[in-house]
Amino acid sequence: MNCELLAVGTELLMGEIVNTDAQIIARGLNEHGFNVYWQTVVGDNPQRLREAVETAKRRADVLVTTGGLGPTADDLTKETVAAVFGRPLEMDPVQLARLKERMGPAMTPNNEKQAMLPRGCTVLVNDWGTAPGCAFEQDGCHVIMLPGPPRECAPMFRERALPYLETLCGGVIGSRYVKIFGVGESSMETLVKPLMDSLSGVTMAPYAKEGECELRITARAETRPAALALCDPVVEQVRAILGNRVYGVDVSSLEEVVVRGLQQRHMTIAFAESCTGGLLAKRLTDVSGASQVFGYGCVTYWNEAKTGLLGVQPETIRQHTEVSAECAIEMARGVRRLSGADIGVSTTGYAGPTGGTEENPVGTVYIGLSWPGGETVLRPDRRYMRTREQVRRSAASHAFDLVRREVLGL
Ligand code: ATP
Ligand code: MG
Repeated sequence: MNCELLAVGTELLMGEIVNTDAQIIARGLNEHGFNVYWQTVVGDNPQRLREAVETAKRRADVLVTTGGLGPTADDLTKETVAAVFGRPLEMDPVQLARLKERMGPAMTPNNEKQAMLPRGCTVLVNDWGTAPGCAFEQDGCHVIMLPGPPRECAPMFRERALPYLETLCGGVIGSRYVKIFGVGESSMETLVKPLMDSLSGVTMAPYAKEGECELRITARAETRPAALALCDPVVEQVRAILGNRVYGVDVSSLEEVVVRGLQQRHMTIAFAESCTGGLLAKRLTDVSGASQVFGYGCVTYWNEAKTGLLGVQPETIRQHTEVSAECAIEMARGVRRLSGADIGVSTTGYAGPTGGTEENPVGTVYIGLSWPGGETVLRPDRRYMRTREQVRRSAASHAFDLVRREVLGL
């Protein structure tokens, strides 16, 4: 089915707010096998809204609107859509009672408008706000209307609109997300292309994300478990092709994999960060349960901090500079000793945009690892590092990846 998203709101047109509803819905529709062919934004203007709805009615199988379901005069989506499809709005007594109960004394006469719904529609009950959504089919076009505020729109889409759409096409979609680090998007695609071309009934879509790649493997079946069971053999084939560049399936991030791996092994980790300035600690503590595995992180930006706090030898810095394999190792060793953690990880490098040396230009980062199994230094390829932000993010990702491979053997 071909879908069109229509976001209604002058604030969107003016750039005052970003159309995040569209992102959530478009992604969700695609993940569930619906093609999004058009996204339109229109202001709170009845004439232009009408034109946009008429256009969508002509070309789309599914029209999803967001916004304009509120009680105020500028909320015109329902009225306009209902008029284009020739469906009168009628008061829904159940929704009215619900609205009264939800709003209590705050209820004003204009709120009642929110319980007016197109005749014969399916009501999409809103457990996250006041305005109900609705869905109906007419002349081969399925229309779904959702409220604008993202904290309502996102759950309404997930819990109400998607199940409605899934009943239309029989069966449900199941997807597995294979997460990959350490190979570029184009090389990954080249590697998996023969498999991709040989599939039938299962689709595979590659995405590049912030220095990482993701493969989404999708199948349709009667039930979600049955759909996932169709995906799983393909996941195994991808693993066979990409080896340990696959860092997880259906996981959110490298740092999540590291936290879970350390938890399972009852191991602890500590960081000595220079060029990442606390990013390792930040990203690791984004994962719930991090406190079981992490208690110490030092940001040692100045050399005095590296020598004073971590015990890096001044002689090491004099001889090799602070951006060196030798310094990285002493930092990792130092923080491990200081914290008593099983694993010490360090970063030191030139994030740029200025600085660096002929031997170690901007983008050069050394990552040190010290653990009971030994010591390692990694110097990631700096060719793709263009901005300060990229250097720092990528250094942190490589550090987590190093722990995953070396210590956790994942
Ligand atoms: P309300 O009952 O709050 O009026 P509504 O369904 O009428 O909800 P709008 O009035 O269009 O929705 O928008 C309400 C708020 O929701 C906007 O001020 C904005 O903050 C947010 N919003 C609306 N549409 C979007 C969108 N497409 N993406 C992100 N945020 C949005
Ligand atoms: Mg509104």
